Amino acid sequence: MSRIAEVRVTPILISDPPLLNLQGVHQPYTPRTIVEVITESGAVGLGETYGDTDYLKLAEAFGPRLVGAGLVVNDLLAAVTRCLSEVGAERVDNTVQAEGLRGSRTLGKIASSVASAFEVAIYDALGHELRLPVHALLGGKVRDAIEYSAYLFYRWAEHPEPDEPKDDWGAALDPEGVVAQAKRMAEDYGFSSFKLKGGVFEPAHEIAASRALAEAFPGQPVRLDPNGAWSVATSLEVAGALEGVLEYLEDPTTGTANMAEVAKKTSLPLATNMCVTAFDEIPEAFTADAVQVVLSDHHYWGGLRATQDLAAVCRTFGVGISMHSNTHLGISLAAMTQVAATIPGLRHACDTHRPWQTEDVITQPHTFSGGKIAVSDTPGLGVELDRDALAKLHNRWETSDARRRDDAAAMRRVHPDFTAPKFPRW
Ligand SMILES: [Mg+2]
Repeated sequence: MSRIAEVRVTPILISDPPLLNLQGVHQPYTPRTIVEVITESGAVGLGETYGDTDYLKLAEAFGPRLVGAGLVVNDLLAAVTRCLSEVGAERVDNTVQAEGLRGSRTLGKIASSVASAFEVAIYDALGHELRLPVHALLGGKVRDAIEYSAYLFYRWAEHPEPDEPKDDWGAALDPEGVVAQAKRMAEDYGFSSFKLKGGVFEPAHEIAASRALAEAFPGQPVRLDPNGAWSVATSLEVAGALEGVLEYLEDPTTGTANMAEVAKKTSLPLATNMCVTAFDEIPEAFTADAVQVVLSDHHYWGGLRATQDLAAVCRTFGVGISMHSNTHLGISLAAMTQVAATIPGLRHACDTHRPWQTEDVITQPHTFSGGKIAVSDTPGLGVELDRDALAKLHNRWETSDARRRDDAAAMRRVHPDFTAPKFPRW
């Protein structure tokens, strides 16, 4: 078996529309890290993860350690974790909600997200070596296409500066705007499941938008995700108003104890990508029955195998599983699709930001048919790196000083007094 001959780690900046959330607004450009693992026989494996400085530094430090190694993924997370001290990532404050949209930020989460990019790249390279799709290496697919949901956002029509990236979606700042956005998502991509990113306006406004979606798409699943913006009391008010309307309510409040209190008093299933984002958070949450659906994310959990492990734990405890998405490109979408194909208990449409990302680093970006992406059976992830596109987006990174995602700072460009809210916001 061929060994790893070279590893490349390339930071890029990708354009992002002005999507609103509790923490502020998406910046015009957001960083990602692209990983290439090249074998002695010339197979190229691709991976993708967060590009903020802590992640990038760790990926750059770890990459060279793989040269000469076999295409082995077991123990990869431990190896990345051992590398943390080398890059000074111990500076990260475990107690700060530095990334409020994914719960507290910890060294373990940074290591898992970096390990995921290398794990995916190794699986991709192995797939090319063996002429097998990644799903076959993970035990084989149980479905031929993966259903994704329309990821709806309140948003501005455009970023504040004239030379910043533009699109033709227009503003969505009220229920009518949200429904119009959903209709276009349904028409252009065939989505029949809808998720609204909430926590932007007062709860009554977001209840109205959720109801408007349910009325516009009768019988089709609708979800609302305020990223923990609400107190327990507010969560229960919203849950009461939206029982029978939502498929599930995502992270209405922060912390396992609060989620458990809400869960006890509503028939709405609660989903999370905030209070259960790592294995050590599972025992407390599942014991307290705080969540009924865990939103997996191979970046959070440490890769594709870890996602399968998570699915097994969820199955054991009778907890549902779905899939979270953060801003991502086609390499990650391919990885999400390959692993989703191998999880028998996946019964909810997966989230994806894909329609909002107009740039990519693969030669043939994925297309949706009926809201689904076909599971590729070609070797590896089934995608090929577009080197010109990668070079262009890397050049943007080199010539810009944007180094981390900061939605609050982006919001302050328009509303100078804005600060990321303290929880609970309402
Ligand atoms: Mg969420």
